Amino acid sequence: MLTQAEYGYGIDLGGTKIEGVVLTPDGEELIRHRIPTPREDYTATIRAIADLVGFMERETGIAAARVGVGIPGSASPRTGLVRNANSTWINGRPLEHDLRDALARPIRLANDANCLALSESIDGAACDADTVFAVILGTGVGGGLVVNGRIITGAHGLAGEWGHVPLPNMPDSHMPGGARRCFCGRRGCIETWLSGPAITRQYRDAGGRAARLQDVVAASQRGEALARDVLARFVENLAGALGMIVNIIDPEVFVLGGGVSNLPGLAERLASAIRPHVFASPSDRIDIDLRLARWGDSSGVRGAARLWDMTHDI
Ligand SMILES: [Zn+2]
Repeated sequence: MLTQAEYGYGIDLGGTKIEGVVLTPDGEELIRHRIPTPREDYTATIRAIADLVGFMERETGIAAARVGVGIPGSASPRTGLVRNANSTWINGRPLEHDLRDALARPIRLANDANCLALSESIDGAACDADTVFAVILGTGVGGGLVVNGRIITGAHGLAGEWGHVPLPNMPDSHMPGGARRCFCGRRGCIETWLSGPAITRQYRDAGGRAARLQDVVAASQRGEALARDVLARFVENLAGALGMIVNIIDPEVFVLGGGVSNLPGLAERLASAIRPHVFASPSDRIDIDLRLARWGDSSGVRGAARLWDMTHDI
């Protein structure tokens, strides 16, 4: 008979949906459920998360002893306030404190890309690796670092915030009008180049007509030169951005998650494209190991449910 604390309650707070899961210790999902995010409304967001936890408790008959929550951005370890979230209505708010009040039980927050990295290192694509860097390529772009089964958050909770570093090796000719301003206030962030909306925007800026990333991919598969060029440049830009991570961390495995990671053949193309960006001589044997997230879109919420498995504060 398992105790309540052995079941992992996880919540993934996204910009358009909130997902919840209850996991057994061996990773079986007792329930997984999605609801729409009340956009631009902080109080309703708190209430929606509390309602979702209550719903899962009723459905499973298992009380949540504690809850892990993955969020865009992160909570400052100094102030407890959320910052850097592209769901900007949670920025500046004491989310952990307010959720603890609403749910009357312990809450642990973590960045959503950190949750992806944790999930994939525990029982996902990188379960055989000690050093894992996971990236989310979706509506936003983020990164998370797990070493020996633990999330590395850093002194200020900023480790892995790879999406808000300027894209390296960007020639001026690729930036007519200058680097684009990011929601974070900086210019030319990796997120402004590599997110799904950024790719479709680059395609339209070059004269293409597509509303969605899938349309660009379909045009490329039909052999349209413009779409092929935009996607080839995306692979090259991503390779430069990941090459930078190799030179700083050199992880054993990169995990690719988020909707953009489903581009056909992405991992295979990247493995060779990263090579010229790595600080190594041509005779060195460099095998960049990139793998798609095993748990797909559910990896974030599964990682959130595992936040309490780590023995140190995050
Ligand atoms: Zn930014």
